[in-house]
Amino acid sequence: MGHALLLAGKRGTGKRLLAEALAQLLLCQQPQSDSHRGVACGDCPSCQLFRSGNHPDLVWIQPNGEDKPLLEVGRRLEGKDGERQIQVDQIRQLLERFALVSRHGETKVAIIERSEMMNLSAANALLKTLEEPTKGTYLILMTEAPSRLLSTIRSRCHYYPVTVSPQDEMASLQWVAECSGSTYEAVASLASFMVAGPLEIRNLMMSERKSEFSAFEQTVLGLKNGREDPVVAAAVWSRHSGSFFLHAFQLLLLALTKSMYGRGGESASSSNTLERSLLSLFNDNRPATDQWFNFVDQSQKSGRLWQEHRVNRQLLLEELLLSWHYL
Ligand SMILES: [Zn+2]
Repeated sequence: MGHALLLAGKRGTGKRLLAEALAQLLLCQQPQSDSHRGVACGDCPSCQLFRSGNHPDLVWIQPNGEDKPLLEVGRRLEGKDGERQIQVDQIRQLLERFALVSRHGETKVAIIERSEMMNLSAANALLKTLEEPTKGTYLILMTEAPSRLLSTIRSRCHYYPVTVSPQDEMASLQWVAECSGSTYEAVASLASFMVAGPLEIRNLMMSERKSEFSAFEQTVLGLKNGREDPVVAAAVWSRHSGSFFLHAFQLLLLALTKSMYGRGGESASSSNTLERSLLSLFNDNRPATDQWFNFVDQSQKSGRLWQEHRVNRQLLLEELLLSWHYL
């Protein structure tokens, strides 16, 4: 493995798990060889520190305002409040740590999530260490949008695409069904309009997400057939699970866009019941193309605004759900 690795792939394909496993392996003091080639031992002091989630030689960076992962590994380097990006301060803290003598062996590892969200000065600061790497330091960059990284950064990393092949997809859906205690059909139905990978679908199907998902279905459909009131629904969702709602809604709109306005207009992928019901509702009264795409824009804008501190979330959702209702 080179000094820097770039894991590129869509959301939910397991980039983070892979990054963590690699980090543990790099830090392990007695990596297993022979039959278990390339596996961390799990017992050495370094592996124990890793499991405690507090390894001093592992740091990770993500953009401000990003949802924190369920389990944190290593030390999180925070930026200043406000801008939703990776800031130069975060990279400087990383470089300072890389410059210190390692406390546990010779190795230091940094994981940078959503690396495409580095601002220009952060990217330039990182470029310096990519050009003149310190011995024993490793960078693991993750991205969903490799083309948005500076080409000078891309070219200095070992590029590793993380994908799910169509053959693997059925097996992954089966795996998701087993993990979440759902049926294969239920998972496949969800997956039919998800642009994300199997891990993300699993998150959606897991316990609380599952009931959130049916509430989501009810709201989205209810607003179109007049059983739900946009103002009431906005009040409910802005108090609870609003970002889930917006995320699922955007995925749904993508799928509907493909079916209604895509090339050939094929609606072959609509094995999802929610999508099918909406398609038949829109069958009689399909919005004009520009009207539809304006609405898709609005939903994406709402998703971005949702993250901002001073926004009135209830009002934001109210406007979106009213537009959906009247679309
Ligand atoms: Zn170990």
